[in-house]
Amino acid sequence: MTTTLTFSDIQAERPTRDGLAQVYAAINAMLDSPPDPLAHALDRWDLERRRYDTWAALVHLRFAQDTTSETARADRDYADALGPVATDHETQLKRRLLAHDRGAVEAVVGAHVVRLWESDVTTFDPAIAADLEEEAKLCARYTELLASAKLTVDGHVTNLSGLAPYGESLDRDLRHAAEQARWEFFAQNADTLDGIFDELVRLRTGMAAKLGFDSYIPLGYRRMRRVDYGPDQVAAFRDQVATHVVPLVGRLLEQRRAAQGWDRLQSWDENLIDAAGNPKPAGDHDFMIAQARTMFDRLDPDMGEFFAMMADGGFMDLKNREGKAGGGFCTSFPTEGVPFIFANFNGTHGDINVFTHEMGHAYQNWKSRDLPGIDVLWPTMEAAEINSMALEFLTYPQMALMVGEDAADRFRRMHLIGSLAFLPYGVCVDHFQHEVYANPGLTPAERNALWKRLEARYMPWRDYGDLAHPAKGGRWQAQLHIYRLPFYYIDYTLALCCAMQFWLSSRRDPADAMRRYSDLCGEGGSAPFTELVATAGLISPFADGALEDVVREAEAVLAA
Ligand code: ZN
Repeated sequence: MTTTLTFSDIQAERPTRDGLAQVYAAINAMLDSPPDPLAHALDRWDLERRRYDTWAALVHLRFAQDTTSETARADRDYADALGPVATDHETQLKRRLLAHDRGAVEAVVGAHVVRLWESDVTTFDPAIAADLEEEAKLCARYTELLASAKLTVDGHVTNLSGLAPYGESLDRDLRHAAEQARWEFFAQNADTLDGIFDELVRLRTGMAAKLGFDSYIPLGYRRMRRVDYGPDQVAAFRDQVATHVVPLVGRLLEQRRAAQGWDRLQSWDENLIDAAGNPKPAGDHDFMIAQARTMFDRLDPDMGEFFAMMADGGFMDLKNREGKAGGGFCTSFPTEGVPFIFANFNGTHGDINVFTHEMGHAYQNWKSRDLPGIDVLWPTMEAAEINSMALEFLTYPQMALMVGEDAADRFRRMHLIGSLAFLPYGVCVDHFQHEVYANPGLTPAERNALWKRLEARYMPWRDYGDLAHPAKGGRWQAQLHIYRLPFYYIDYTLALCCAMQFWLSSRRDPADAMRRYSDLCGEGGSAPFTELVATAGLISPFADGALEDVVREAEAVLAA
């Protein structure tokens, strides 16, 4: 392991249109001269794609780190405009390789990658290049608008990421005030947000038509590189959640309401899971980094060493600050094979997630960095979210390090309830998107009515009281994936179904669960989701009963 690598070592030359054209001409020339083995051309292409992706990752990271920087914004605009040019070159080369001797190509990159390419080439045509650039611009407008929020709660000015501690305060009025501030911001910007989404739905539906699809749904699935399941299986999984999880979450919320003596459960009560106050980190940023070192060392020395490299090398930006984009993510620089974790600490238990969830992504990316070919460095996202979410459960035994001995049990309980409660919301987001793209002509008011209808199915307990914007169905506008990453959201719920299976195994044999987890990380994206799941010894979320088992065990644990 290179322990001396630092973030400042990550450099990438800015590509240009001409430069890309020359690179691809050179690769095509290699393919034109048969004595040159196919593998040489593919190696060269792989290297060029790594360089390009490292540069693009840096540009997008720097913009997320400071959305107010003119330089970062100009660089991002440049990258957004160049993206479709690079995709065009890539797609043409993939088409050429697919038309080549398939066996020879498979021998170099593997059958799974060929399948990915077969899917990829149907998602791009130069006819949609301008639409893709426009789509990226609209997504960036959404990010900037949300990052610009300045909200006042309890005399303090904060941004959307900073609302979380108020939203789970023990003071019910403060929780209400936080939600009021959140939804007033969305109500004030509702027209702009509706406008951005109208444009996105129109653009995506238009791109699908240009590529020969009936709607955006099949294109959306292909852009997520799903080659092993479709909308019918996903719909069946949503039904499983409605059948097995929704009633349980309803019962858990009703127990909480009764225990707290609330006359009714309001939406601003749902995030206060623990009656004594949600356990939170027992210290600040530096404390958590130090504790995380111990936690990962104990879990697995290899993981501990990796985390130390991330921490010492500056591969994390975790503090919340003005102008920083919201949310948390893990990105990577495939020229070096090293990832980067971005987050916004706000003092709540959510901060612990950075170490348990984003670190799972980072560790997978690191473990599989030597797999041949950039196409398999990351799995498709539903599989990638197993790597991250399973680590949330596998770190349960170490939680005293983060929240203190007396709060560790309460933390685990809170996390388990939070995970179960997430499933109905997650499938609701997914269902909403299917309906939206199946009916692209919906007006903003019809979309809100649709959300309300689905919310009643999956979260029948939801009561927004006097919060007018979500009460009329506007809750979905706060979910960035709906704008920026269509059809991604179901991945969290499919992965959670698998991650909870790791939790079950770790209760019986922690060492074996950890070993299987680590092996799964090492597999990277070498196979499609359902195959990775099977290899890891997990039951596919699409199989009957997968969800039922974990839900039964969770209910038993929570009742104990
Ligand atoms: Zn994740």
